[in-house]
Amino acid sequence: MINNRQTRLDRFFQEYGLDAILFTNLLNTRYLSGFSGSEGVLLVAPDQAWLLCDSRYTIQAAAETSCIEIRQFKDKKQDLISLITEKEFQRVGFESAYVSVAFYADFSEALPDVQLVAIADELDQIRAVKDSLELETMAAVAKMASDSLQSVIPLIRPGVSEQQVARELEIEMLRRGAEGKSFDFIVASGERGAMPHGRASEKLLSAGELVTIDFGAVMNGYCSDETVTLALGQPAPQCREIYDIVKAAHDMAIAAIRPGMHCRDLDALARGFIESCGYGKFFGHGLGHGVGLEIHEKPTVSPRSDTVLQEGMVVTIEPGIYIPDMGGVRIEDTVAVTSDGSRIITCCNKDLMVL
Ligand code: ZN
Ligand code: ZN
Repeated sequence: MINNRQTRLDRFFQEYGLDAILFTNLLNTRYLSGFSGSEGVLLVAPDQAWLLCDSRYTIQAAAETSCIEIRQFKDKKQDLISLITEKEFQRVGFESAYVSVAFYADFSEALPDVQLVAIADELDQIRAVKDSLELETMAAVAKMASDSLQSVIPLIRPGVSEQQVARELEIEMLRRGAEGKSFDFIVASGERGAMPHGRASEKLLSAGELVTIDFGAVMNGYCSDETVTLALGQPAPQCREIYDIVKAAHDMAIAAIRPGMHCRDLDALARGFIESCGYGKFFGHGLGHGVGLEIHEKPTVSPRSDTVLQEGMVVTIEPGIYIPDMGGVRIEDTVAVTSDGSRIITCCNKDLMVL
């Protein structure tokens, strides 16, 4: 198990009175153990842990993990049931958000004397506060992705398709050492900018349009997330106006970040400003989200989020205004919460770039 991370489970063992916790979410498994394979389950007791994987992964698991017993399974469910029976565990917590109904039914039937305790996706919270190694990795992947965008900017011009921009950006990231992209890039130009999640299409860029590019890379398993909105030539006055509003909302949210602040209050700050400018109904999504091993993870920064920010959390701040039949603007940075504020880890300048 990775140093100190097992202690993040202490409160779950206590709160739920558990003998062991079963992890079926591979990202939580990776976070706790270091194992990065695509198949395996992790069973953790307060003082011991077992990783069950198939024959494809036993060598990798031994290399990536320490202080953990690796067992090769033939039948995952059956071998896991045998392990729980062998250890005589009475109460076993599991990630009910990541277990199929069939898996649960088989389990309860095979282990009638074991209480299976559902813990939904609460266990994902163990990954919300990043340690220094994670912060370093995340800063490195964020910089690499930003640098990649900078180097493809000369290609962004009228007549080039959104897909070409996305492809060139991905190739540049791979060239710079990315394992891959953290999601399908959004390249939304002109009226397509009104779609917050407009995936790159065959549409050609035209002069006078705004182009929103939302992109990220993966390195050592960690994701980056950043959005720039560029202008191809001087933008129309309303485009400039909404850009300035979104930029101001973005800046004021980042300036307000402090440990101890409620995520919903942070959201309210940016949202309230956009509303005061008359564009409230055109900002429909949450202000941001956690990033880490997963592109969207805890905490959520939205009007409904009661999470309190803590030092070491990494969240995006991404206000936007999307106007049907007109276009849109989103500006996104990823920030790490520090002891007295925040540090922006994505690197592209967010002043409007006119190409
Ligand atoms: Zn994004
Ligand atoms: Zn995002």
